[in-house]
Amino acid sequence: MRRGSLNSCACAGFTARATVALAALLAVLPRTAALAADDRPAAGWKAAAAAVKITPPDPLPMAGYAGRTEPAEGTEQELFAKALALEDDAGGRVMLITLDLIGVSAELRSRVVAALGTARSLPPHAILLNASHTHCGPDYRHEAATAYRESLERSIVAAATEAIDRLAPAELSYGTARASVSMNRRTSSPTGYLNHPNPQGPVDQSVPTLAVRSAGGGLKAVLFGYACHNTTMGFRRWLGDYAGYAQEYLEEDHPGTKALFMMGCGGDQNPYPRGELKYAQRHGRTLATAVEAALEVNQKEPRHQRKLSGTIRSAFGMVDLPFTDPARPPLAYPVQAIRIGDGVLLVALGMEATVDYSLRLKQELAKPDGPAIWIAGYSNLYPGYVPSRRVLLEGGYEAQSMPWDPGLEERIVARVHEIVAEVGGSGPAVR
Ligand SMILES: [Zn+2]
Repeated sequence: MRRGSLNSCACAGFTARATVALAALLAVLPRTAALAADDRPAAGWKAAAAAVKITPPDPLPMAGYAGRTEPAEGTEQELFAKALALEDDAGGRVMLITLDLIGVSAELRSRVVAALGTARSLPPHAILLNASHTHCGPDYRHEAATAYRESLERSIVAAATEAIDRLAPAELSYGTARASVSMNRRTSSPTGYLNHPNPQGPVDQSVPTLAVRSAGGGLKAVLFGYACHNTTMGFRRWLGDYAGYAQEYLEEDHPGTKALFMMGCGGDQNPYPRGELKYAQRHGRTLATAVEAALEVNQKEPRHQRKLSGTIRSAFGMVDLPFTDPARPPLAYPVQAIRIGDGVLLVALGMEATVDYSLRLKQELAKPDGPAIWIAGYSNLYPGYVPSRRVLLEGGYEAQSMPWDPGLEERIVARVHEIVAEVGGSGPAVR
């Protein structure tokens, strides 16, 4: 493979086409929608996870690198759509869907949300779609991928409906650990910011981990996050990259368990070293080991591993992000919040958010005795980078994908606080 092809993640082959149709597609959604649950009693959970293989059977175009124009040659690792359904004792539900794909287009979310609304009466605000951003997956929006795209949508819906139909009494717990896979990839130089490893740059190396255990205590599913591009590899084979291996290893080490990866705000983060399959595997093992640490139940830190109780609340809303050209219509940007009882507040941002969003929001939302704050990126909308104000003003690769108005960070953060308020805020338990 050409090492040079890894130097700049163009996240291309998957261009700004989605943004054109976005406003129309999302206009039909309510600006916000919250699930009120003040009077729900706190009691038992139900949960279930399911997985469906989504590896393309044909040599389709691949997504992620502009310079890689030839189709895939084969499969190194199967790709999956996975779904985790959670239900509180009052029947409140949330559906967390993770995908070994480059991103979640507006069209894909729209179709899946519509299908799950029809099939299982799930409201849009209760459905989160997150992509690992693997750069060895299909460009499913390509004109050559029409049949695959339709099967992909069916597969995602099949995984989600299976998870709902298999809901069973469960215990939920949350823990966190740390893994040193990511490195900031923005390096200052006399000619501007380079796409180059920067060990002094900001990172978010936390590994938030939600464990689902059966009533008997057996581990049934584990949902874990990390903020780093899945770009160890750029060859012409299907691969989930480090996140694919982390999921694979966890499922091997815990037979009968489904492992789901949720991508964080890794817009300016890369795994290093890169370019050889052994590194994708080693990064995957590092991350899987961190998840094992997060699952450890004998930690003395009381917040490390906490059982969750309470109810589920979810809210979804949009915020208009303007561009420097006032004639260009603003982009409708999705923000989602899911509060899982008293223990976890999950905020999901669209597109390729840079790490400053995660670091800032965790700081602003954390409250004494409040839930753990989990910030996901790459959710519900793709493509395009969403730089922080700092990154935008510094310039460089992540600042250039769209002509953003520098106020975008404040707009996004303000909207997050509004959406979080709709799920009861980030303070101690809401009942
Ligand atoms: Zn990217």
